[in-house]
Amino acid sequence: HGHGGGHQAEKPLLPQVKAIVAIASGKGGVGKSTTATNIAMALSRMGLKVGLFDADIFGPSMPRMLGITGEPVSPDGQTMMPMENYGVKCMSMGFLVPEDSPIIWRGPMVMGALEQLLRDVHWGELDVMIIDMPPGTGDTQLTMTQRVPLTGAVIVSTPQDIALLDATKGLNMFRKVDVPVLGIIENMSYYICPKCGDEAHIFGHGGAKAEAARLSADFLGEVPLDIAIRQTSDAGEPIVISKPNSPHAKAYMDIAARI
Ligand code: ADP
Repeated sequence: HGHGGGHQAEKPLLPQVKAIVAIASGKGGVGKSTTATNIAMALSRMGLKVGLFDADIFGPSMPRMLGITGEPVSPDGQTMMPMENYGVKCMSMGFLVPEDSPIIWRGPMVMGALEQLLRDVHWGELDVMIIDMPPGTGDTQLTMTQRVPLTGAVIVSTPQDIALLDATKGLNMFRKVDVPVLGIIENMSYYICPKCGDEAHIFGHGGAKAEAARLSADFLGEVPLDIAIRQTSDAGEPIVISKPNSPHAKAYMDIAARI
């Protein structure tokens, strides 16, 4: 048994949050953070009080995706106010360290930081907290599932077999620790050519739906590969907010309603 931290760690985290949903993926780059952000925005648009927690310590993306700059205010030098944009409260390691400096830590330090960001932040009462999990099925992910009282997990995958294999591993990790899997989302599902309207399946199509059926998991929906999704994300204006009437925003709203 280690020293320090361990005692406080026994206190339940996030007692004022009604539901906590982890957004996970088997590997990086499949659009997990983009999906988590847009789902959080969609839930907020539905009138819920929403928090968005960036658990990706090594590659935080929330400051950029939410267009938030600056540092969190600490009223007492020990606790922090969450940052906020578009009505969603957010906390990320990215608010605490410069964007270009790498974090070189071992597992226990990462977990300590995550616990602090969950425990020492004034989240207030929330209907739902969306957690953008780090990619993969390592130590941090496992500890998160054990320390945070998760309501459930959502798996994001591209349609490719290889990504799906990773996604399946992620899904099985949650099942092993008895976290309900709420379903699978297929991201970058298809591409519609803006010139001719032709639909192309760059990474294949339908793989996630088939895999969901095979694993008896719910299929929550598909999101196309579209430059507008990338651009709005990079600009800090998630598409659910900046283009609320677009078909993509609608796709995220439908997915959020199923969660
Ligand atoms: P992850 O969190 O899985 O590493 P990100 O959400 O950071 O992935 O997405 C990786 C890159 O792909 C980002 O530049 C993002 O804007 C882009 N992206 C994600 N989903 C889509 C999509 N459906 N269409 C176009 N670009 C996307």
